[in-house]
Amino acid sequence: MTDKNSLMRQLPKVDEMMRSMALEGITDVPAVLIKLACQKEIELERLKILSEESCQLSKDELIKRIKAEIERQNKPHLRRVVNGTGIVLHTNLGRARLSQTVSESMKEISGSYSNLEYHLETGERGSRYDHVEQLLTFLTGAEAALVVNNNAAAVYLVLNSMAKGKEVIVSRGELVEIGGAFRVPEIMTASGCSLMEVGTTNKTHERDYEDNISENTGALLKVHTSNYKIIGFTEEVSLEQMKAVGERHGLPVIYDLGSGLLADLKAYGIGDEPTVKDCLEKRADIVCFSGDKLLGGPQAGIIVGNARYINQMKKNHLLRALRIDKLTLNALELTLRQYLSQDTAIEQIPTLKMITEPLERLKEKAEHLYRLLVKQPGVKAEVLETEGQIGGGTMPGVNLASYAVGISVEQVSADMLESMLRNNSVPIIARIWKNKVLLDVRTMSEEDLFVAADFFNRLT
Ligand SMILES: *Cc1c(COP(=O)(O)O)cnc(C)c1O
Repeated sequence: MTDKNSLMRQLPKVDEMMRSMALEGITDVPAVLIKLACQKEIELERLKILSEESCQLSKDELIKRIKAEIERQNKPHLRRVVNGTGIVLHTNLGRARLSQTVSESMKEISGSYSNLEYHLETGERGSRYDHVEQLLTFLTGAEAALVVNNNAAAVYLVLNSMAKGKEVIVSRGELVEIGGAFRVPEIMTASGCSLMEVGTTNKTHERDYEDNISENTGALLKVHTSNYKIIGFTEEVSLEQMKAVGERHGLPVIYDLGSGLLADLKAYGIGDEPTVKDCLEKRADIVCFSGDKLLGGPQAGIIVGNARYINQMKKNHLLRALRIDKLTLNALELTLRQYLSQDTAIEQIPTLKMITEPLERLKEKAEHLYRLLVKQPGVKAEVLETEGQIGGGTMPGVNLASYAVGISVEQVSADMLESMLRNNSVPIIARIWKNKVLLDVRTMSEEDLFVAADFFNRLT
């Protein structure tokens, strides 16, 4: 015991360590961060002594640890990473990347005042929603449009505005959960509607909707099964059929489309996801979708359709709590503008460009990365064919053939290498496959290839 106590007494004080940091030349870091780092590392030592696993760290060692902690704390927590997974819409890595044009515009808008809610022609108060409504109606053929924070908020606002206190009929085959936090039944309850499940998991018929309609019914909801597919002995009621049922009973049909495809990817032989326009042509009353899935824009929820319902949503007090911020609005407007020409959209919107990138181009990119890496002594690399996904809970079952570079380093395990890449100053997120680290080039820019090359250059 006395031993422990004397070790405790020998622990340096925070002030003393702060002075040491000044002597080490750490002066351009906010003092509060230096203090927190000193407190944290000294506390860790104290706990180690208490649990009797420490044989007293040298002061030099402690200084080293504090310096490393200061370096960690003095960097922004949210940082750019290199996505080497090949998954284009990686939910954990921020889904869609925005184009250069969009980020430059965001830079300007963020540093200045803007006409966010101001009519430049009349000098009167304007609405933030006006910046994108016309573009959205033009691109989708809808009568009216509204945007909110994300698609979960969109579904919530739509249901609350159109069917509060009423029953909403949904097929059991479409009770979707997206990324753990968005579940159709829960969002429905939260929005003040009650869920009327009909049909079975694999089969739902038109009569299942028809037989369950009563005076309490407020709407029919179709949910796109964005992240799974039901295959085999199945039957789904089409949007046209639902619309026919809705019309017979004077009920609106709402379609939660999820992905919000605006460009026709079928022309590129990718997937069979319906576009927003398709859904409106099939006369869904309201369609809602995400801004940062296949649309390739910022996080947003977009609602398009019948003006009568959109006006109800615009008047809903909840809208204020779900409203989109000016930078998102700016990014969304610029992304939508790129869709005015489908060719520009495919060329400039990173999500679409990465999804439609020709295989031979990916092979060239992988060979480029390979050449940058094999120059390094101790690094073994090879170009490999891989299969990636679009991700972000979109287009399940669609595999994108791609190329990756498989890498191993002498004396370093694949797990270790993966962790070192992840802890690089620009973190590089890779996959492990058969004792190699894989960098899939589909999701890497030219600049990212050099970030990876630089990492291996410094390693050896
Ligand atoms: C992704 C998705 C959502 C949730 O959208 P967020 O923009 O992530 O809030 C809701 N419904 C469907 C069908 C989806 O695919």
